[in-house]
Amino acid sequence: RTQELLALRQSEIPRGVSNAHPIVAARAQGVRLWDIEGREYHDWVGGIGVLNVGHNHPAVVAAVQAQLSAFSHTCFQVTMYEPYLRLAQRLNARFPGDGPAKTIFLSTGAEATENAIKIARAHTNRPAVISFTHSFHGRTLMGMSLTGKKAYYAQNFGPFAPDVYHAPFPYEYRGVSVEAALEGLHELFRTTVDPSRVAAIILEPVLGEGGFLPVPTAFLKALRGICDEHGIVFIADEIQSGIGRTGSFWAIEHSGVKPDLLCFAKSIGGGLPLSGVTGKAEIMDAPSVGGLGGTYAGNPLACAAGLAVLDLFEDGTLLEHARTVGERLRAAFVELQAELPAIGDVRGTGPMIALEFVKDRESQAPDPEMASRVVEAARGRGLLLLKAGMYASVIRVLVPLTVTEEELEEGLARFTAAVREA
Ligand code: PLP
Repeated sequence: RTQELLALRQSEIPRGVSNAHPIVAARAQGVRLWDIEGREYHDWVGGIGVLNVGHNHPAVVAAVQAQLSAFSHTCFQVTMYEPYLRLAQRLNARFPGDGPAKTIFLSTGAEATENAIKIARAHTNRPAVISFTHSFHGRTLMGMSLTGKKAYYAQNFGPFAPDVYHAPFPYEYRGVSVEAALEGLHELFRTTVDPSRVAAIILEPVLGEGGFLPVPTAFLKALRGICDEHGIVFIADEIQSGIGRTGSFWAIEHSGVKPDLLCFAKSIGGGLPLSGVTGKAEIMDAPSVGGLGGTYAGNPLACAAGLAVLDLFEDGTLLEHARTVGERLRAAFVELQAELPAIGDVRGTGPMIALEFVKDRESQAPDPEMASRVVEAARGRGLLLLKAGMYASVIRVLVPLTVTEEELEEGLARFTAAVREA
């Protein structure tokens, strides 16, 4: 059956849709996924960061079923519904920036970044946007334009949006200091785009597709200062790093730096397509009536799921557990790193953690083939892993934060054996 479906994939689906694992899902629960052959896997991918509360969380399933029995769609622009309003209210209360907040919902991460740029432009009446090298902000045209490293996924799709500029990302492990990155930004201001033309600076507090590089707090603080000085809207893209993934609800909270707008998606919907932008009310209100929205934006089933997800984070125990999971993973990976020179770097924030594979300790040259061998070996041992989308020598861990201690140890045993085998 798997072979038959893989053949269909080949004949019916364009090659532009990539695929990490040649297996077909049958069902999934918590950290576990079973394929149609009945094989059981621990899923450390979570649908690319969508399943912080695990597959089919019973509370999410119940909330979606209850909503489905009432209605599944009206379009918020036509007839409002309470789950949209209540979810917005609760996310506004969690906004890590200053002042009263407002929220809009969309469906995908790329729409969230697109809309954040629209809102920032409407608020500032300026055209330019700055993002960073190694960043990823989506696959729509603006999403690709913002993305720092286009080579692997955006060939032949140009021209990209004008007035988007890329500043260097501080990347200590590969020798780009915070000072050098800031100098790069100032150089951009001097030579290419005057800061008075810049509507927004957008960045991920921990790079997702770019290899789980956390932004140094000093850099975030400096950016906040630059945005304040020049009236630039500071946008945190928390699409991958948010909803508890780093051990705090938003990753930017670790730094104490306050964004003006925040993009979220992925794990907010507990498996259903939901995204949005939360931000300072005065900025969020800049677009005129009709300028924001979308037919499916903030679908009722997805908003009901979002409320259930927020409930799970309400009392702080899940975040505490997430931090414990992060510490255990880090300890295990650091131990493995001491044993194996192929592991060059262990990095990330809390349970948003990744390993970079290198050819040897001296050169620290990236080794994407080794990372691929680990992914293969792990699948053979019943563990689904994923490399960072744009950083092929990096394996990132997106294990559900709800994973039990026992399940984590079982997954780690499979992981360690796979790395040794590869
Ligand atoms: N921004 C970040 C930081 C992401 O990690 C992603 C997806 O991986 C996106 C934006 C795009 O989200 P989507 O694929 O839902 O459009």
